Amino acid sequence: MQKTSDRGPAPPSTTPELLTGQKAIVTGASSGIGRACAIALAEAGADVAVNYRGGAEKAAEVVGEIEALGRRGLAVQADVSKEDDVKAMFAEVIDAFGTVDILVNNAGLQQDAPFAEMTLEQWNKVIGVNLTGQFLCTRAAVAEFRRRGIVPEVSCSAGKVICMSSVHEAIPWAGHVNYAASKGGVMLMAKSVAQEVAPDRIRVNSVAPGAIRTPINRDAWETDEAYEKLMRLVPYNRIGEPADIGRTVAWLASDQADYIVGSTIYVDGGMMLYPGFATGG
Ligand code: NAD
Repeated sequence: MQKTSDRGPAPPSTTPELLTGQKAIVTGASSGIGRACAIALAEAGADVAVNYRGGAEKAAEVVGEIEALGRRGLAVQADVSKEDDVKAMFAEVIDAFGTVDILVNNAGLQQDAPFAEMTLEQWNKVIGVNLTGQFLCTRAAVAEFRRRGIVPEVSCSAGKVICMSSVHEAIPWAGHVNYAASKGGVMLMAKSVAQEVAPDRIRVNSVAPGAIRTPINRDAWETDEAYEKLMRLVPYNRIGEPADIGRTVAWLASDQADYIVGSTIYVDGGMMLYPGFATGG
């Protein structure tokens, strides 16, 4: 549904070819933000492995879109919260593409509950995918980046990891304690790994989306009433689109962003500006 407040000049849909010759893995790439990241990386010149947990058809569609752009695409099934799956995924991608230059740790989910009713299963599931999944994939990527080192014709860094965080790495979120804890964990995991591997010329950064129109938060934008309520939290007065995140990720992965190390880039229409205080608090 297109809202009145969505109108305005459209941002560019393509990114200049900043990633020619690079090989990327995007986790959870068969929908939403992950799909947009995979397409944006391919538009910027990268070959892209499309990780999915279930639903091979949707992953195959994204691979088709990547190939239509003239790049190589590869669908790879893996549950990022499982160590053996992650090992097998990296082995498969390195076998097919030769190496990996870019990892986008995007896979994530929510299992919401009032705190006192939250089950250990709900807690463990969200931490397992959103935080442990990013740990397992980042560890595998760093090993490959170190093995290969810098290839100057490809990139001036040895590799890039981009962690999909959230404004909830900083904003507390009642009713979503497991999710906020996972993203707070991603924030300090990414910064700590960044500090540790920067001397190897490996760049680790996070992108923190605000409210983006994807299946994960359909309840927050699907009806007019929900959308108007959501806009009270967004000074820029439009919901974010997956491509807003995809463009940021493609640029952050490129050498244009070579001196950005251990940062979080908020892509949130101003959600981090405490909009409740806009009228004086
Ligand atoms: P989405 O549900 O469309 O995408 C999440 C993807 O992760 C899905 O394709 C899902 O199948 C995959 N996934 C889940 N568990 C997995 C597992 N164990 N292994 C592999 N893949 C798995 O939702 P989205 O909004 O595109 O979310 C993508 C990321 O963006 C998540 O990390 C989410 O926390 C983050 N994020 C989203 C928003 C938003 O407003 N949509 C805001 C902030 C952060």
